[in-house]
Amino acid sequence: MEIRKSYLDGSISFITPHRKSRPHAVNNKKKCPFCRGNEYLTPPTIIQYSKKGKWEIRVVENLFPIVSPKAGKPTNSRFYASLRAYGFHEVVIDHYKHEKRFWQFSPKHIENWIKILLERYADLKSKRKIKYVFIFKNFGNKSARSIEHEHTQIVALPIIPTRVKDKIMSLKKYYIKNDECFLCSLSREKRFLIKENKHFSLVYNPVPIIENQMLIIPKRHFSEFDEIRKNEMSSLAKSLKHGTKLTARYSYNLAFFPFMKKEKYLHFHIEILPRKQVYGSIELVLQNYVISSLI
Ligand SMILES: [Zn+2]
Ligand SMILES: [Zn+2]
Repeated sequence: MEIRKSYLDGSISFITPHRKSRPHAVNNKKKCPFCRGNEYLTPPTIIQYSKKGKWEIRVVENLFPIVSPKAGKPTNSRFYASLRAYGFHEVVIDHYKHEKRFWQFSPKHIENWIKILLERYADLKSKRKIKYVFIFKNFGNKSARSIEHEHTQIVALPIIPTRVKDKIMSLKKYYIKNDECFLCSLSREKRFLIKENKHFSLVYNPVPIIENQMLIIPKRHFSEFDEIRKNEMSSLAKSLKHGTKLTARYSYNLAFFPFMKKEKYLHFHIEILPRKQVYGSIELVLQNYVISSLI
């Protein structure tokens, strides 16, 4: 495995030939590696949350990682720049029950899930050479998930991903021009608001990259995921439950955007991307977006 950067357009690709053999659309409880009782099908537990001696949430290494601490030296080529695919790729089994969907989890369970994420996040970001820790969920057939049982992935990367770099640049520009944080201001704007609670706003992205794209924004300004306070976690759980419920009929992707340095313009947020829309050339090739239905 390796990370390649293109001389043609600067795009970055994770080259992972070993992932060809990963399972596709596992929906058989007996063979599901994420079900209770099938623990022998996954690598050993990294951490878990248990109740009455039984695990409810469990974190394991990803069997088919895109980065690994064992990644070898990259090949050299005059056709691309290459980087060692060093990093960590873990899977959080969100719930012990196979059929339970994220939006059906109790707010308390989601809160415990957030605590598990925070623990793994803090550990992974402290590792040497790690520049970004990305937390995401792929849900449903159109989201590129390979196992139906609800799970979340955490990848600790040796690079700052392209879109994160774009966000940092854009948010900085806005701050310099307007002397305020863009996401602070968006979190207070009623025009795009779907639902708010004490600590978080769930809003539609005014410039979506996919139809009905939602953002979960903390009302208090902070940049890093692990700056979240204990008393804010139940509010985040409620916003996540509401947002995923709205897109429950569709496949979706959910992505955390922490920023690994504290700045007045970098504001932690989460994106929910319903996969209703199929990308065409404008989206995939130009990476610009045509949105025909705006809420
Ligand atoms: Zn299962
Ligand atoms: Zn802010």
